[in-house]
Amino acid sequence: MKKIILFSLIVLFFSLIGFHDLYSEKPHYVVTGYPVKFILEELTRDVANVTALVPPGASPHTFAPNPSDIKIVQKAKALFYVSEELDGWASKIQSRNVFRLIDLLPSNYRMNFSESHRHGNDIHEAGAEIIDPHFWTDPIAVKSLALKLTTVLINLDRANEKKYIDNSKAFMARLELLNLQIMARTVEIRGKYVFLFHPSFRYFIKRYGLQYGGAIEIDPGVEPSARHTGDILKKIKQSGAKAIFTEPQLNPGPARVIAESIGIKLAQLDPNGGVAGRNNYFDLLFYNLNVLINSLK
Ligand SMILES: [Zn+2]
Repeated sequence: MKKIILFSLIVLFFSLIGFHDLYSEKPHYVVTGYPVKFILEELTRDVANVTALVPPGASPHTFAPNPSDIKIVQKAKALFYVSEELDGWASKIQSRNVFRLIDLLPSNYRMNFSESHRHGNDIHEAGAEIIDPHFWTDPIAVKSLALKLTTVLINLDRANEKKYIDNSKAFMARLELLNLQIMARTVEIRGKYVFLFHPSFRYFIKRYGLQYGGAIEIDPGVEPSARHTGDILKKIKQSGAKAIFTEPQLNPGPARVIAESIGIKLAQLDPNGGVAGRNNYFDLLFYNLNVLINSLK
C-alpha cells in the first residue's frame, strides 16, 4: 500500500511540475498538411512539436478546419501553410504568427499554372500569376526553401538557433543525396508521359525529365466536365502511356472511368502521405518514385 501511495505521489509530482514544464518549453508549430509537417519535422528535430491539421486521407484542397483545429492553432507559436491554391483556408485562422511557404520559395524555383488553369477554390482574375503550390515534389525546391524557413524558425525561437542550423544542414545534405538517387533511378523512364489525377507532381516531372501529359481533374474535388474528360482521354491514347494515376485523398471515380474505357492500368501516386511507409519526407518521395517507375517503364 505504502509503495502504491509513494508511486502515485511521484507520478503526481512529475505530472504537475517536471514533465509538464519540460513539454511546454518545446515550441509547438501547427501546419496544414503532411508535406509541410515533414519539412518542419526535419528542421525542428529534437527542438519542437509539429501538428498537422489535415488528417491522412483528406485533401488540403477540400479540407475545412473545425473549432478544435482553430483552438490548436491559437495555442501554437506559429502556423505554416503553403498558398491560396492549396490550403488558403489557413490564412483565415487567427494566429500569433502565420507563414506562407510559397513566399519563402525563391521565385526561380516556382512553377506557374497556365492562365486557363483553375486550381483550388479561388477564382483568379485573368492574367494573374497562379503559382502551382506542390513544390515539395521537387527535393531541390525544398532545399531552396530550407534556408529561409530556418531563418524564420530562428526568429521565432532564438534559444534553439544552433539546433535549427544543424538540422537544416543535415536536411539539405540528405535532399542533395535524394536528388541524386532519384536522378539515377528515373533514367529508365525519362521522357515518358505522365497523366496525373490532379496537377500534383508537375515539379517532380519537370525536375526529372518526364513529360506532363495533363490531369484528369484540374480542380481537385470537382468532377471534370465531359469535354475535359474527352480531351484528356484522347491525349492519353495518343501518348501511348501505360498507366494513369489516382490519389488517396481524392475520389478516383473519374480515373476509373477512363482506365476502363481504354483498358489502361491504374496506379496510385500520393502527394501528401501521412500513412505507414509514407510518414516522412524521404519515404514519401521514394514511394512515388517507385510507383512512377513500376507503372511507366
Ligand atoms: Zn493539389
